[in-house]
Amino acid sequence: MEPIQKSLKKWMRENQTFQTVYGEMKKEILTDPDIIEILENHPSLTKESIDRQLMKLYEYHSQNKNCDNCAKGGCANNVLPGYKPRIEINDQEIHIYYEKCKYTILQEKQQQRAKLIKSLHMPKDVLQASMRDLDDQDPKRHDAIRKVIEYVNALDDGKAPEKGFYFYGPFGVGKTYFLGAIANELADNHIQCMLIYMPEFVREMKASLGNDSLQEKIEQFKTIPVLMIDDIGAESISAWFRDEILGSILQYRMMERLPVFFSSNYSLSQLEKHLAITSKGDVEELKAGRIIERMKQLSEQVPLFSENRRR
Ligand code: ADP
Ligand code: MG
Repeated sequence: MEPIQKSLKKWMRENQTFQTVYGEMKKEILTDPDIIEILENHPSLTKESIDRQLMKLYEYHSQNKNCDNCAKGGCANNVLPGYKPRIEINDQEIHIYYEKCKYTILQEKQQQRAKLIKSLHMPKDVLQASMRDLDDQDPKRHDAIRKVIEYVNALDDGKAPEKGFYFYGPFGVGKTYFLGAIANELADNHIQCMLIYMPEFVREMKASLGNDSLQEKIEQFKTIPVLMIDDIGAESISAWFRDEILGSILQYRMMERLPVFFSSNYSLSQLEKHLAITSKGDVEELKAGRIIERMKQLSEQVPLFSENRRR
């Protein structure tokens, strides 16, 4: 029997179209700057070995797409979507391995994070806040930033320090942004956290009144490793919510030494006055004082007075 190479050559001689296509393909492969670089780095690879393994180089050439964003083409259209080829050359043998591209790795990391950060009614951009992008131009923010960095540095893999922060200051200074950035740091350390927007939280709990999900929800807020309550004091709450919901969640977390973070436009003493007046207009200082005491146990007060960044 004729050896296959020989019959292939014969066939190619007879079939000019194939040869033309093959020639063009070879030219395309061997002028690919990445392949040129690879071959330059392996001068011992003979012409015969290159010819023999041209299909492997073609595979590399066709799959090694520049993907600036996996979701929008590039290596998302590869045979193995989101993976890029890597070449290794051993003596005369070319091997191709596939690895996740950097965007796939980033995407997976973000999905991992999303699993660790539960959020209720928080804007998307807050969940993208990061310590790396924390703008530290304004010296008025330095104390707060220092505290956050200390906290983050103290995060042992899997365990958050017992006390969170109570960020307070005017509108637009970045209190919520700080919560988002800390939540992401917690996620990087595999610590679960729940970030909730207080006014919506109140509405949601009210809506669950009388159905089975209320207790279930309260249980979640009690036991999540780190709880973050954004914008506490933004509106008046009922005595029921203050004492039965908020009070019982904070009491439980205090006993279990589970940290809570807050953000508010009010200082704690202002919040105390605010919590004393119920939505019905009753004044209950003692009960408000009890909540504030728990909050002090659970979090360290951090003032944040700076420019309104929304202007
Ligand atoms: P607050 O909760 O105090 O009202 P926000 O956290 O909502 O303020 O911040 C206001 C705006 O400024 C948001 O758009 C936020 O993304 C942005 N921002 C706040 N702090 C920072 C920061 N340190 N670095 C970059 N952007 C920030
Ligand atoms: Mg806010």
